[in-house]
Amino acid sequence: MAGRLTIIGGGVMGLMTAYQAAPLAESVTVLDRSRVGDPATASFGLTRSVRNDYRDPEYARLAFEARRLWREFERECGRRLLVDCGCLNLVKGTVTPDLANTYAVESYAVLEHLQLSREAFSATQLRDRFPQFDADGGWLDVDAGFADAGAARGPGRPRRAGGGEHRTARDQQI
Ligand SMILES: Cc1cc2nc3c(=O)[nH]c(=O)nc-3n(C[C@H](O)[C@H](O)[C@H](O)COP(=O)(O)OP(=O)(O)OC[C@H]3O[C@@H](n4cnc5c(N)ncnc54)[C@H](O)[C@@H]3O)c2cc1C
Repeated sequence: MAGRLTIIGGGVMGLMTAYQAAPLAESVTVLDRSRVGDPATASFGLTRSVRNDYRDPEYARLAFEARRLWREFERECGRRLLVDCGCLNLVKGTVTPDLANTYAVESYAVLEHLQLSREAFSATQLRDRFPQFDADGGWLDVDAGFADAGAARGPGRPRRAGGGEHRTARDQQI
């Protein structure tokens, strides 16, 4: 067993690191200048999408791996943490005429390269499937959605062997 681990910052990165490290370390302490779930930090917005449609294949691969770990964490929590709704990128020629260089098309090529679940829609197919959008094409990252940050930090989080504590500037114990 490794020694004592101290993590500075209890955002999603610090907390997940603590969670994964807990079985490997003698003790894990998370120190934060504020409190877990402080809306002033990056991790706790209500609109944090979890998706794989990035331009960088390595980043996309890591995102897919992170999704697997979120799913594992979800099972251990016994509650839904990810809301699956896919992520649809739309293109409209009047806005971005150079279709091949749009984020939608480039990130879709990465999904294809990594063989991740995806769907492409022509303008007609898009109108049939998603009539609410007026666009010239759609590229869907199927294994995507958003994280329910509130549920992830709510009561009932699993605790891992190895022990751990969380100390904040306000001495809040979790
Ligand atoms: C507006 C916005 C939208 C985003 N949307 C998405 C999205 O849709 N999908 C996505 O995947 N990512 C998104 N991101 C990025 C994602 O939110 C961040 O990458 C992620 O939350 C970073 O987590 P973190 O734990 O590193 O940082 P934070 O959540 O900021 O946590 C850092 C923690 O460290 C503490 N801290 C800071 N300094 C000190 C110190 N000196 N001593 C002690 N504690 C300290 C803070 O109090 C805080 O709790 C978005 C970011 C922003 C800002």
